[in-house]
Amino acid sequence: MKKMGIIFGSLIFVLAAVLAVFAVAGVQKSKSLQQEMKRMNRQINKMQKTSESLEEELEALKEAKREEAAGAGQEAGTAEGAQAADAQEADAQEAPPADQKSSGRKVAIDPGHQGPGADTGGTEPLGPGSEEMKDKFASGTQGVYTGVPEYELTLAVSMQLQEELKNRGYEVIMTREDNDTAVSNVERAQIADENGAQILVRIHADGSEDNSANGAMTMIPSADNPYVGQLHEESSRLGEEIINAYCQATGIKNNGVRLYDNMTGINWSTVPVTILEMGFMTNQSDDERMQDPEMQKNMVQGIADGIDAYFVTAQ
Ligand SMILES: [Zn+2]
Repeated sequence: MKKMGIIFGSLIFVLAAVLAVFAVAGVQKSKSLQQEMKRMNRQINKMQKTSESLEEELEALKEAKREEAAGAGQEAGTAEGAQAADAQEADAQEAPPADQKSSGRKVAIDPGHQGPGADTGGTEPLGPGSEEMKDKFASGTQGVYTGVPEYELTLAVSMQLQEELKNRGYEVIMTREDNDTAVSNVERAQIADENGAQILVRIHADGSEDNSANGAMTMIPSADNPYVGQLHEESSRLGEEIINAYCQATGIKNNGVRLYDNMTGINWSTVPVTILEMGFMTNQSDDERMQDPEMQKNMVQGIADGIDAYFVTAQ
């Protein structure tokens, strides 16, 4: 009976170690973990053969532990198991923490426009190889009711978004972090590309002659875009996730995802790209809401939620 107890005890330790590896890693995708699992399963099978009578108990125990691990995650019991199973402990500690789901994801944030002090001027091709030239810089719109220029709003929201995304585990590339730096539309796309960003999210606000026009939208390239048509599908998904999460978080009217093939900063992108027009600065309600610090928090949460949603299903 003593021998049985030792075998049974060892089984518990091995099981606990297996579960600890799952709990600490939190990810089933890791190949090395799968190999480790297979190795441990082989050990378990070996031990099962030494005692037929333990098999049924073992199965029941395994099932219970699986449920426990699935439900509660890291528990004291499994942590103790990991300490006991010293051979497996080292491997388990090398696994990444379970809560860093966004780890390694790089996002480029592009705050639209720049201040009047920036050195602007000149033209650049509409897309790679294009003979059509467009202004390198655009001055943007302005809050008709608040008086705040678009470049200040886009930077304010983008800086908060950078912070929020970092907190969520993303690496963030900013195309500008002040109002005096002149970054052309082509350069904005290039900064994202050169820094290995996986997506480019451009932050803007809208303006209209009609001050009743209101709401937010995202702009993406069409499938027929000669420069970035191949990015249409993923950009569409990105634009959709962002506009839906943004409007849900803010209550700003959802004008959906729209196709634009005449935007230099989109046409030069090498990664899925979208422009978020956060609302109309020429509409009193949108303009005033977008300057409300509490609302800006919601705007930032919404955009970050949309980016999260995009990456949940990204390849
Ligand atoms: Zn703009």
